[in-house]
Amino acid sequence: MTTIAGNLQHVRARIATACERAGRDVEEVTLLTVSKTFGPDAVRAAAAAGQRAFGENYIQEGVNKITALRELGLAWHCIGPVQSNKTRGVAEHFDWVQTVDRLKIAERLSAQRPADRPPLNICLQVNIDGGLNKSGIAPGDALALARAVAALPRLKLRGLMTIPEPAPDFEAARAVHANARALFDHLNAEGLALDTLSMGMSDDLEAAIAAGSTMVRIGTAIFGERAMPRD
Ligand SMILES: *Cc1c(COP(=O)(O)O)cnc(C)c1O
Repeated sequence: MTTIAGNLQHVRARIATACERAGRDVEEVTLLTVSKTFGPDAVRAAAAAGQRAFGENYIQEGVNKITALRELGLAWHCIGPVQSNKTRGVAEHFDWVQTVDRLKIAERLSAQRPADRPPLNICLQVNIDGGLNKSGIAPGDALALARAVAALPRLKLRGLMTIPEPAPDFEAARAVHANARALFDHLNAEGLALDTLSMGMSDDLEAAIAAGSTMVRIGTAIFGERAMPRD
């Protein structure tokens, strides 16, 4: 077994244990493996071990991998910032964008999504803890942006994504994630039909699953430490 396959098995076991403790079905939580800074061979090793969904932060790096690995039929999520002059590559190559926090970006992605591709799946990034990480809309602005994005023809609004600041302990992490889950439930109560709440990384996936995450984004625990610093 490769190191990556072994790490994947370990992360899947962590997810299963967290689901069991939370009384949740393991099928409710999707594992997104974050392959930023790692090359196509690392993605191939994870795909050979059954992994289908991959996250990339840097658009050109992601497009290069998507193009090189086209025959594997993987699902690619953009989880890094998207400037308005970079939307075309994202709209043409990725399957998901999890970092939409402005209507202007969503409008460009919709306009540039090729007609022969299915609608681009979208999560709104929410700055759930008002943390130093300034990306993401304020929770109070989520409903209005969600309604506007849901109305765009070539996008499919799937849910919310958060990157909270590291919390001191499990309970503190779970409390922040629970605020995101409450917002997600509120938007669904308003009729938005969201199915994806993307929260939880290598260090806090258990707390995120306890609070109701449906997608955890895991890089380091699968591929190892990155040479480039986390942005
Ligand atoms: C890098 C990154 C991850 C993965 O983080 P790890 O701590 O390596 O698991 C998840 N989400 C986003 C948005 C990231 O940029």
